[in-house]
Amino acid sequence: MQKSKKDIRALTKEQLREFFVSNGDKAFRGNQVYEWLWQKAAHSFEGMTNISKETREMLQDNFVINHIRVDQMQRSNDGTIKNAVRLHDGLVVESVLIPTSDRTTACVSSQVGCSLDCKFCATARLKRMRNLNPDEIYDQVVAIDNESRLYFDRPLSNIVFMGMGEPLMNYNNVLKAIDKITSNEGLGMSPKRITVSTSGVPKIIKKMADEGVRFNLAVSLHSAIDEVRTSIMPFNENFPLHDLREALEYWYAKTKNRITYEYVVWEGINDKQKDVDALVRFCRFAPSKVNIIEYNPIDDGDFRQATSKAIAMYQRTLEANGITVTVRRSRGKDIDAACGQLANKS
Ligand code: SAH
Repeated sequence: MQKSKKDIRALTKEQLREFFVSNGDKAFRGNQVYEWLWQKAAHSFEGMTNISKETREMLQDNFVINHIRVDQMQRSNDGTIKNAVRLHDGLVVESVLIPTSDRTTACVSSQVGCSLDCKFCATARLKRMRNLNPDEIYDQVVAIDNESRLYFDRPLSNIVFMGMGEPLMNYNNVLKAIDKITSNEGLGMSPKRITVSTSGVPKIIKKMADEGVRFNLAVSLHSAIDEVRTSIMPFNENFPLHDLREALEYWYAKTKNRITYEYVVWEGINDKQKDVDALVRFCRFAPSKVNIIEYNPIDDGDFRQATSKAIAMYQRTLEANGITVTVRRSRGKDIDAACGQLANKS
């Protein structure tokens, strides 16, 4: 019977060094292979040219390198690129490259499907199938970095965890991926250019604060009134605003890092003065700014983007209260690559 091979990228550098020592080789060989696996993102052992053929064969006998494959790449007429990414077990997630005049942002997935049940989001319909491994998250970033160099002549500059899934429900793997992305043994990116977006899992937000993470935090708020929020984001029942607020105050006290609230305004749901007043109060708990994002319709029409008048009311009220607010246009809508549209349609 053929023994099942282990995914070599599940090993830490130290474990890899120990593997070589226990096989009568030098620990240093572990460093070399580690560099191939992460910094050079090698997909096979054959290409590891500074490793002897014998050693490469030995690795081949013991391990596999699971890697993603970009199955399909779609380009929007605004330049946005959406990748359908096939994982080693055949499941598919999506990631998006968003170009602007001076930066390239990667929007990456953290789970296949999603643990949460937000009523306005296409990914929620898929349910959660599994968490992504650190290497599967890392590989999405590498793929987009390559595309950015190829099509835009510049490296990737920013990463947002706003693709499929709830990153804080796969926290350990997300953190491991970010460690690799920011490490000089990986992509060497600054954590300041990375934003983790969450629907708000208070316990994990506090844990992140305790661990002194240095990336940015965005919270998909959408309403600062419990009943309203629960009606559109049912998990709010278990993690009510009071707990979220406490966690965010804790986050700011520990990290001194301002929070971004993502917010869609929908007709008849959160487009009244009382809604914006509640948001203003919520913004006072910790230094923050508000990103009003456009609604990307996903199907039946239960949700409709609020009028521009209502959005202007939000903008005016927030500004009058000294809160920074930006109103963001969607990108990649024509290829279903915009926020909330990632659902493996093709
Ligand atoms: N689970 C994480 C990250 C994925 S969602 C989170 O909740 O933050 C990324 C962003 O897209 C979130 O702010 C989410 O609320 C928003 N979003 C979801 N569906 C949307 C839709 N149909 N139109 C616009 N934004 C949407």
